Amino acid sequence: MTISPEREAALLASVPTGLLIDGQWRDASDGGTFDVHDPATGKLLATLASATSEDAMAALDAASAVQAKWALTAPRTRAEILRRAFDLVMERADDFALLMTLEMGKPLAEARGEVTYGAEFLRWFSEETVRDYGRYLTTPEGKNKIIVQTKPVGPCLLITPWNFPLAMATRKVAPAIAAGCTMVLKPAKLTPLTSQLFAQTMLDAGLPAGVLNVVSSASASKISAPLMADDRLRKVSFTGSTAVGKMLMKEATNKVLRTSMELGGNAPFLVFEDADLDAAVEGAMAAKMRNMGEACTAANRFLVHESVAAEFTEKFAAAMGALTPGRGTEPGSTVGPLIDSNARADVHALVTAAIEAGAVAVTGGAPVQGDGYFYQPTVLSNVANDAEILRQEIFGPVAPVTTFRDEAHAIELANNSEYGLASYIYTRDHNRMFRVAEQIEFGLVGFNAGVISNAAAPFGGVKQSGLGREGGAEGLAEYTTTQYIGIADP
Ligand code: NAD
Repeated sequence: MTISPEREAALLASVPTGLLIDGQWRDASDGGTFDVHDPATGKLLATLASATSEDAMAALDAASAVQAKWALTAPRTRAEILRRAFDLVMERADDFALLMTLEMGKPLAEARGEVTYGAEFLRWFSEETVRDYGRYLTTPEGKNKIIVQTKPVGPCLLITPWNFPLAMATRKVAPAIAAGCTMVLKPAKLTPLTSQLFAQTMLDAGLPAGVLNVVSSASASKISAPLMADDRLRKVSFTGSTAVGKMLMKEATNKVLRTSMELGGNAPFLVFEDADLDAAVEGAMAAKMRNMGEACTAANRFLVHESVAAEFTEKFAAAMGALTPGRGTEPGSTVGPLIDSNARADVHALVTAAIEAGAVAVTGGAPVQGDGYFYQPTVLSNVANDAEILRQEIFGPVAPVTTFRDEAHAIELANNSEYGLASYIYTRDHNRMFRVAEQIEFGLVGFNAGVISNAAAPFGGVKQSGLGREGGAEGLAEYTTTQYIGIADP
């Protein structure tokens, strides 16, 4: 069903445009604003207040003021707020999906998928809130007792990227609430609208003033630098590029802040000679094309056994070539635009360089002419193993295919990256799956599966893909600290 302009306008008009500080939406201290655009048309969607350093400090003031009380709030109370928030997000699923499509570009069906995935962090962590166990034991010497309990780490700065506007926020906010932390959320300036609506939904669910503060801003460092220099902030959780993550880690050393870093990826997609090739193509489409390839988990390097490479490439290119680029709100559209003109230019530069070095565009290989930042779904074959396109995150709908000789060669190629986030293995041999999983240096392994993110599973990388995990019991531990109480022989 086509979405009417009136429906879009009414939804946009319902999104708060201010800064959320201490439970109130307010203007920026200097009255500054910034614009948010639709990447499918380039048109203006909304104008938001742009937080200043002063606003960021006001947000931290609010978060710090309620931290002690919030930490003592009954776990059941925090759990019920999260559960109500889950229900409200699901009730408003169509609004959240449309808003993400408008500001980020992904097709509506995918945006609905993100609502389900993103909301689940609220439900899953609401269930974990009342199960944050400690321990009680006798010392080995047999006299004294040990109590180990967890406490919230304290006020947190949460910085999110533009590519999954709802899920990246819920993946941080939900465990922080479960742990009893207060927070300042800084959404990406390209896609802040979903976080604005989400924050209002948290208030509607009963979250007390000051627990969640939102400071959207045109300047990220104006927000993060003063907050990270303040003794009251205790943690920074960042999802974004490795370059910015490294900078924030350096800043975090000054105050010895806890850090969680969900950074870039360069996922290998391994197809062995015994794989079900149709299933592998289906998985490849999901692993590559979810979010138009703008995902940290996006398959970036298709490593295929030389005996099946030609057949896999042909089938994969046919599936990619059958996709329909278009605005995400259009019923037939299966691929949205890239986020902006720079992103599209970067993708095209990688493709052009690969082709100049001998790669062949089996399908695609060029920008789509017309409005918006669309790029043709592209499959490249004959890609040299040392090509730049295999080293960098492509962040677009482009799939370079290269070949391997045997299992050892596949593992060597897969590990040949400074990143270690997601990886995918297609084989019918379960023993091989375990052998390969043991030897590849990645935090996530999809076994005959192209999408594996789940609220109950620990998501995160090794090497330069980051530190820490989001989701699962590990995701809650990121927001707690441990206190040990030693008790003399009673
Ligand atoms: P980015 O690093 O440019 O921005 C991420 C966030 O950091 C945004 O909110 C941005 O405003 C803020 N930021 C930018 N410069 C900053 C600075 N100097 N100080 C403080 N904050 C700053 O990344 P992006 O382009 O928004 O997102 C894409 C990247 O995110 C890709 O590398 C992708 O792999 C990664 N990502 C990782 C995960 C994961 O879970 N590992 C998930 C999604 C995206």
